[in-house]
Amino acid sequence: MTTHCCEAMDRKVNAVCDQHDDPFACPDALIRFSAKFQEYGLIIHDGGTSSIRIAYCPWCGQGLPESQRDRWFDELERRGIDPWEDEVPEAFEDDRWLASPPQG
Ligand SMILES: [Zn+2]
Ligand SMILES: [Zn+2]
Repeated sequence: MTTHCCEAMDRKVNAVCDQHDDPFACPDALIRFSAKFQEYGLIIHDGGTSSIRIAYCPWCGQGLPESQRDRWFDELERRGIDPWEDEVPEAFEDDRWLASPPQG
């Protein structure tokens, strides 16, 4: 589990709506956190699944962790996995892969 910068962020990221399973369908959902990329985004309710990445917390102002998106692809590549073609290991679907020692 990722620890977020403050309680407000924690609440928004972990908010569960009993009417909408999909945060993009829920008008109350504000923040989308991608555990595997460590990216925070503001959800754009345009009917799609777009979000705008944010670098600072809107509530406490703290700088958010750097995106690990490039590293995610690098680490998979190092393991010989093509995320578009191959099955992505479970640990790479959330933040667990970040704890694995770098390989290669
Ligand atoms: Zn915060
Ligand atoms: Zn809702």
